[in-house]
Amino acid sequence: MSFESLGLSAELLRAITEQGYDKPTPIQSQAIPVILQGKDILGGAQTGTGKTAGFTLPMLQLLSKYAKDKGPRPVRALILTPTRELAAQVSESVKTYGKYLSLKSAVIFGGVGISQQTAALRQGVDILVATPGRLLDHANQNNVNLSRIEILVLDEADRMLDMGFIHDVRKILKLLTQKRQNLLFSATYSDEIKKLADSLLHSPVIIEVARRNTSAELVEQLVHPVDREQKSKLLSHLIRSQSWRQVLVFTRTKHGANRLAEKLGKDGIKADAIHGNKSQGARTRALVGFKDGSISVLVATDIAARGLDIDQLPHVVNFELPNVPEDYVHRIGRTGRAGSTGKAVSLVCIDEHKLLCDIERLIRREIPKEVVPGYEPDPSIKAEPIPNGRNARPKMGCGSRSRSPKPAQPLRGSSHSFKKP
Ligand code: AMP
Repeated sequence: MSFESLGLSAELLRAITEQGYDKPTPIQSQAIPVILQGKDILGGAQTGTGKTAGFTLPMLQLLSKYAKDKGPRPVRALILTPTRELAAQVSESVKTYGKYLSLKSAVIFGGVGISQQTAALRQGVDILVATPGRLLDHANQNNVNLSRIEILVLDEADRMLDMGFIHDVRKILKLLTQKRQNLLFSATYSDEIKKLADSLLHSPVIIEVARRNTSAELVEQLVHPVDREQKSKLLSHLIRSQSWRQVLVFTRTKHGANRLAEKLGKDGIKADAIHGNKSQGARTRALVGFKDGSISVLVATDIAARGLDIDQLPHVVNFELPNVPEDYVHRIGRTGRAGSTGKAVSLVCIDEHKLLCDIERLIRREIPKEVVPGYEPDPSIKAEPIPNGRNARPKMGCGSRSRSPKPAQPLRGSSHSFKKP
């Protein structure tokens, strides 16, 4: 399968060639022809599959049929994303692939000044990439008219719901025309996504692609049992003794991310934190530093890490286990380079044994445990409750009487299928 055979225009093919893409990814070869036919899509795909080009390329082609060369124009396509980072990345893709077309695009998200965005909107754009909250602010201030949207994309819809944006999304949907093409992408398929898909999509074509690796395949997983207070020392030890160069570390809270980045810094390890309280500039700088190797450890909260185009990392560390077991699978899915295994290491203290059990039940395997000499847990330390977490369990080991969590919904690349809504 080639990009030419998908029916894309010469301008788009030129931009694709410049990107060095030889052939479409599975989501692209499935989604592009369907979108070009004007159909709605329910796409089971996540970051890293090439989904952005999968919806951006046909969208650009459809819009360019009736593109205006000059003057103000109504917004004709809206791409909603859960995070600022994802909005920025998608907007870059729109610009890259649309380089030889005369369509205009803009990106709007919170955390930065509003006036530049207002000016861009007033000049008129064909394609708007936005996070829901800031888009509503603009809509409420009459900076943008969404009544002429022909194509709506909800990217990472499951994240959008997880992050509590459903009300904002529903408010935005009310501002759009009824007659439009809808493309919904989600890595998981929950009852909420089904409800949203049912209310939004008309006879959608279902497209699902597997993630590149799953917890059971390319990721080597390991748990280091350790005391709560020893975790940061153990992490510094692991990074130094094993010469880890690019490590994404997950903490449960923003405050915890800052504290850990500072502690690692004091241990002579170049680290930075990325989370929602950081300015957009600081987040971008941290990400750039991490990608170019000047920062070797990026400490992130789950929400901040969502949508970041940083996967295929050699090491992911769960400094703290996530409260939601599915997040573990999302976190460790960031590791694994093409053809070689990635390593996901979890530092687990006594407070987190219940969380570990839930994770093991979800992934249907026991994760090997390895105590690092010098960091043996002190058996006299008692479990403490985790804020907003689940109850701690006194012993390592799950026990047979414990109740199973809700059965796993189709996880990224699991064997479950993405069923028709
Ligand atoms: P996405 O899943 O949209 O976040 O894309 C993941 C990465 O794959 C991005 O860095 C894209 O530039 C890259 N990419 C997208 N399509 C292709 C393709 N057909 N061939 C090679 N790389 C691609």
